[in-house]
Amino acid sequence: MNAYQAEKKEEPTYNESVFPWETPVQYVKGVGPARAIFMAKLGIETLEDLLYFFPFRYEDRTALKKIASLLPSEEQTILGEVRAVSLVETPRKRMKIVDVALSDETGILHAKWFNQSYLKEYFKVGEKVMLSGRTKANAYSGGRLEMESPQYEKLDEKEPQIHTGRIVPIYHETKGLTSRQIRSLMMGALNRYVRMIPEMLPTELIKKYKFLPLSKAIYSLHFPSNEGDAALFNSGKSLPHKRLSFDELFLLQTGLALRKRSRTEEERGIAFSRPGTLLTELRDLIPFELTGAQERVLSQIKKDMAEIKPMNRLIQGDVGSGKTIVALMAVLIAIEHGFQAAFMAPTEILAEQHFQTLGKYLKKLGKTVVLLTSDMKKKEKNVALLEIESGVSDLVIGTHALIQEGVHFKKLGLTVVDEQHKFGVLQRAKLRQKGVLPDMLIMTATPIPRTLGMTVYGDLNISIIDELPPGRSPIRTSLFYGKRRDRAYRMIEGELKKGRQGYVVCPLVVASEKIDLRAATELYEDLKKEIFRHRRIGLLHGRLKREEKDRIMRDFKEGRVDLLIATTVVEVGIDVPNATIMLIEHVERFGLAQLHQLRGRVGRGSEQSHCLMVAEFPLSKEGKRRLEAMVGSNDGFKIAEVDLEIRGPGEFFGTRQSGLPALRVANLIRDVKILEAARKDAFEWVDRHPHLKDPESRPLRSFMERKWRGKLEWLTTA
Ligand code: ADP
Ligand code: MG
Repeated sequence: MNAYQAEKKEEPTYNESVFPWETPVQYVKGVGPARAIFMAKLGIETLEDLLYFFPFRYEDRTALKKIASLLPSEEQTILGEVRAVSLVETPRKRMKIVDVALSDETGILHAKWFNQSYLKEYFKVGEKVMLSGRTKANAYSGGRLEMESPQYEKLDEKEPQIHTGRIVPIYHETKGLTSRQIRSLMMGALNRYVRMIPEMLPTELIKKYKFLPLSKAIYSLHFPSNEGDAALFNSGKSLPHKRLSFDELFLLQTGLALRKRSRTEEERGIAFSRPGTLLTELRDLIPFELTGAQERVLSQIKKDMAEIKPMNRLIQGDVGSGKTIVALMAVLIAIEHGFQAAFMAPTEILAEQHFQTLGKYLKKLGKTVVLLTSDMKKKEKNVALLEIESGVSDLVIGTHALIQEGVHFKKLGLTVVDEQHKFGVLQRAKLRQKGVLPDMLIMTATPIPRTLGMTVYGDLNISIIDELPPGRSPIRTSLFYGKRRDRAYRMIEGELKKGRQGYVVCPLVVASEKIDLRAATELYEDLKKEIFRHRRIGLLHGRLKREEKDRIMRDFKEGRVDLLIATTVVEVGIDVPNATIMLIEHVERFGLAQLHQLRGRVGRGSEQSHCLMVAEFPLSKEGKRRLEAMVGSNDGFKIAEVDLEIRGPGEFFGTRQSGLPALRVANLIRDVKILEAARKDAFEWVDRHPHLKDPESRPLRSFMERKWRGKLEWLTTA
């Protein structure tokens, strides 16, 4: 019988609002203020944090062996009686060894612990003790069998075994708090609280999936019953895992469903529904036809915009798929209805580029566009602000500067956010607040694996441009090691000879723009003096003055610069179709998503393009995997899947950017099926139980309110 079963009989019904989830952990018996400090390092601050602090792996110590049948070098568990306890000091004095001799009816075993003298008092002759550990034959003692630093536990008829003789949970440790101590504390806390844990999930769903009750799931995720399968627990697919990941994902999706619903019900924005001529006029101006995918996405946008409820649409399209032109069409629809549009890009260089290309079209259509970036001179900026406020400008293109105070729109009807993964959720929301429920279009080339999309963008409508403009051939990507850089340079020269252009991108040194700068500048000087002295070379980095940046970008765009040496300022958005080759220095320092973005600067025209990745030894295992993925695929979605696998969902999108609450049990890769089910159930539940006000939803509601408090902005904005 385990503690859970022992105490289950009473079965009192506790209400969610009564359970002391938020009690500071220091008041949990056995913790106290000193330990609470260590626990905080593990992210454990409340009783809830403690109960949800699950083991990261399990060891199966259920099978008891007889001492005589112990095999060398295998992890095994025995039960024996203490015969003798001694403290041995080694000649080197540094080492104090507690040696305990135990016996069962088959033989004697010695267990040794180093520098844990207190154990000498812990073990008493005659007591029954369980040990788990690896055995080895001690060559100095005639080959007798010993265990070094085994896990130990006294056998007590009244108490359940927690460290040995069962499937044992292993917790992440921190200095001052061992897994063993956590295990004891956890058992104490479970004994005290587990039977009081209230149910949160609607009964209907528990029945539908035959889920364990919440309290039982929590208990057995810490202490699986001995009939459990340790391997199943270690793979994260046990019954309590399933129940608890469903919980997390269901709560998340319920939040998203509520948010989406509140918009649908209450928000009344602008209906852009009058027919107009600007789109047709634009189609006559652009030198190409839209692809099928672009047309499809455009019609989705038109439909959204025509409705009174504000549009919330994300366009996902791989690098070079032609998102900009589609966004421009949305902009024209807004302008045609007498509204202004705002277009936000993450870098000044990209904002400038949009200003040039989109501006060209707008002018031809008799509309006005203004640029607003933070590196503008004060006077220029003031003029721009005035034009925005008076409504003179139809389209405002800019960087973060757009969301600052002091920027007032006369009549903002549409906001577009380009490369949205470079912005935080809150920044997106701020832009939206510059108008009265404007429509919102956000774009990203960082493909979000579907599972993550369902969480991060769960309340948005998603359009996918899954087709590249015709005539593009896949970029050829190859890997060079530093020593063979000369070959890479020869390939660049080959392209330049054909009249093409190229990029050389310099390493990214985390958190040190200065060093980045130096690396780029030195490389620029070298290349200019030597290998490419007969070519026109430009240098581009973030510290240049605005006019300098503009001039260099324009020279490159218009073909007056052959080779651009740049820092990662060119990472996103830059569009120069004649550039067909890119060399990336110190490629091992870049993340996968970033590499894919960078590579997307070439292959934007009809010519064969190349990406040359130059790596320095030694490569880490992950580094190798990243580069293999790059060489092996041009498909942003495939690359994102690998990236998600390598980095895990937490890192893939920083929490700040995703607004995603941390997941404790669920794993977005492993639990795709659970996520899909939870999403469907949550949206259906919210449909049938609006606002969760009915008695059936009450426990769920109070659980949600508590859990997502403080993340409320995450629930109500964006
Ligand atoms: P991204 O989706 O990466 O933002 P862009 O919108 O910058 O891509 O488009 C990449 C390039 O493809 C641009 O030079 C653009 O003019 C061109 N382009 C866009 N749509 C088409 C199309 N349907 N046919 C041909 N070229 C296109
Ligand atoms: Mg773009």
